[in-house]
Amino acid sequence: MDSEQVDYDIVIAGGGMIGTSLALALAPLGLRVAVVEAVARKDGQQPSFDDRSTALSRSTQRMFEAMGLWDEVVAASTPIADIHVSDKGRFGFSHIDAEEQGVEALGYVVINRVLGAVLQSRLLRTSGVDVQCPARIESIELGPDNATATLRSGDGEQTLTCKLLVAADGANSAVREMMGIAATKREYGQRAVIGNLLPEKNIDNRAFERFTEQGPLAILPVADGRAGFIWTVSEDDADRVLKLDDAEFLAEIQAEFGYRLGKFSRVGKRAAYPLILSKALRLTATRSVLVGNSAHGLHPVSAQGFNLGMRDVAALCDCIADPHTNRSDPGDAAVLDRYAQWRRSDQQKLVHFTDNLVRLFGSTRPGLRTLRNIGMIGFDLVPGVRSLFAKHTMGLAGELPRLSRGVPIR
Ligand SMILES: Cc1cc2nc3c(=O)[nH]c(=O)nc-3n(C[C@H](O)[C@H](O)[C@H](O)COP(=O)(O)OP(=O)(O)OC[C@H]3O[C@@H](n4cnc5c(N)ncnc54)[C@H](O)[C@@H]3O)c2cc1C
Repeated sequence: MDSEQVDYDIVIAGGGMIGTSLALALAPLGLRVAVVEAVARKDGQQPSFDDRSTALSRSTQRMFEAMGLWDEVVAASTPIADIHVSDKGRFGFSHIDAEEQGVEALGYVVINRVLGAVLQSRLLRTSGVDVQCPARIESIELGPDNATATLRSGDGEQTLTCKLLVAADGANSAVREMMGIAATKREYGQRAVIGNLLPEKNIDNRAFERFTEQGPLAILPVADGRAGFIWTVSEDDADRVLKLDDAEFLAEIQAEFGYRLGKFSRVGKRAAYPLILSKALRLTATRSVLVGNSAHGLHPVSAQGFNLGMRDVAALCDCIADPHTNRSDPGDAAVLDRYAQWRRSDQQKLVHFTDNLVRLFGSTRPGLRTLRNIGMIGFDLVPGVRSLFAKHTMGLAGELPRLSRGVPIR
């Protein structure tokens, strides 16, 4: 395919968690869509559909319901009935309860690789969507009437023309840079070590978040009685932690978490992710738009990055399907302006909420330590505060697009 040119309505750069979900969400609109993904899933290297466990919020659940995918996703997930939040070495803990919130579950945990298999198998059965994989977008051109993306694959170079180019290529988005959009970035000086282990006691659909000197440690219920962990360690200590043998690793994570779930054993493969806060300065450029991590990369402490990205997907679909805008042109400036306006507040709130959580619970400053103790105890005593926190973690705060309310796009 040398310099072949193909026309689409929408080209999605990146077929990870968000890009694939967007392609599926757009399907009912009958547009011609292409997804360009650099890394094939079958070689085990796919960076989005990896061994991390993701907590899906209620708004993401509703989206998958509206997209007719929830039965398959829920069959591969574990519900969270209770979230237990504590601070190592301090009094007081908080918990949020599904029953108290009047919901079936506070969220559902799914392994990215497993969610990827569900999404990608549906994508292959979806008409109107072409998948180019493995193929990498190397350059773009943005014009008043259309955008072009030049991609390279094993077969050579190809140019795709479209009305709208969507950057869903992750936090280090090259397409965002090609769009001329800068992003602010701040390193937390931490890495998230992930994997799973077997707790002695039944984890019973409970999720735990424990704030330690190094940073937060999350323990999530996954399949077969196992627990997924996301352990934030300081950058200086990360290489040492990754080199520990299984017994040493289990002893260290146990010392951080304690024995609420009995003794830990049988730890699986581990991987680490550098933690960086990134925020794009704008969400759109001519005939192009950012969604998911290309727009915002969060610390995983609030388990919200994917869920926030899914609300980007829902809002973009709403804007494109809006009968008041030019339906035949998804890259029309009015569509993009509405999307940018709609998403700004939710994204900013969650970026600040997550960043403040990291600062509050990661700080060793005496004033902040007192505040976080009062905060955690007070937080449990004041149902209103807890409800608001739960609303954010469930993704139900603010004006929600149709898909996030569980209403099909068409
Ligand atoms: C340890 C950890 C735990 C997390 N837990 C949660 C959680 O519990 N809940 C939650 O909501 N979020 C969680 N997140 C955040 C979540 O994983 C991300 O927000 C989500 O994966 C972002 O998806 P994305 O598709 O935007 O980007 P990515 O996952 O980065 O995918 C981008 C894709 O684009 C492809 N790509 C890159 N460049 C190109 C190119 N030039 N051409 C073509 N393709 C390209 C890549 O190969 C990749 O497949 C967690 C994150 C971490 C690090």
